[in-house]
Amino acid sequence: MAEGVLLIISGPSGVGKGTVCRNLLMVREALKLSVSTTTRSPRPEEEEGREYNFTTVPRFKEMIEQGSFLEWAIVHDDYYGTHLATVRESLGRGEDLILEIDVQGAAQVRENIPASVSVFLAPPSMEALEERITGRGTESTEKIKQRLTTARREMDEFVSYDYVVVNDLVEHAAALISSILDAENCKVSRGARPPERGGE
Ligand code: ADP
Ligand code: 5GP
Repeated sequence: MAEGVLLIISGPSGVGKGTVCRNLLMVREALKLSVSTTTRSPRPEEEEGREYNFTTVPRFKEMIEQGSFLEWAIVHDDYYGTHLATVRESLGRGEDLILEIDVQGAAQVRENIPASVSVFLAPPSMEALEERITGRGTESTEKIKQRLTTARREMDEFVSYDYVVVNDLVEHAAALISSILDAENCKVSRGARPPERGGE
């Protein structure tokens, strides 16, 4: 059985990664989302084990030392990481798996797993990004300012990715990413094969 596709969805905070991934998961039932570990506090609507595995800074550091993460990064003062064993198990079962991670983490995964496929999700404009991040209403004014400063720097990173998708309409962006997944699954280099020819 061919290994599943490891699909990195990355881009600045507030661009719509979470929203587009939720849409993608609804239209592609077989697709799985990797649940990251973080030291950030849960938002009111978030549940342990669904959006994130929430943990403490000492426990996170312990996991780094144990080599538990495929990648990890400090994003806006909190730790975030992808659990290596879970990713291996999922890909080994032939599942396509999404990593919704920041640009630092995306660079680490591209280096550690060259067969991964990376998508940079971009906003239609910087004004739209500011509206989205402010409109979400989950961060303080100070945190919003910090995230927008980081976002301006992160926008230059798109050149390191395999694909760029502009999140103008959620459904459109999700459909484009779905097409990328279909194309990747048809790659001969990934193990795609025509049917057996049968006897002569
Ligand atoms: P991220 O996961 O990248 O931080 P979110 O998915 O939380 O971003 O989206 C940030 C805000 O932008 C949310 O309020 C979401 O509803 C909104 N949003 C996402 N995609 C779009 C879009 N295509 N058009 C308009 N608003 C969007
Ligand atoms: P949020 O706090 O808004 O959920 O996420 C903040 C940022 O951290 C987002 O850009 C998100 O993609 C990123 N992030 C979430 N999980 C991970 C992870 O496991 N690793 C890395 N490197 N970034 C992550």
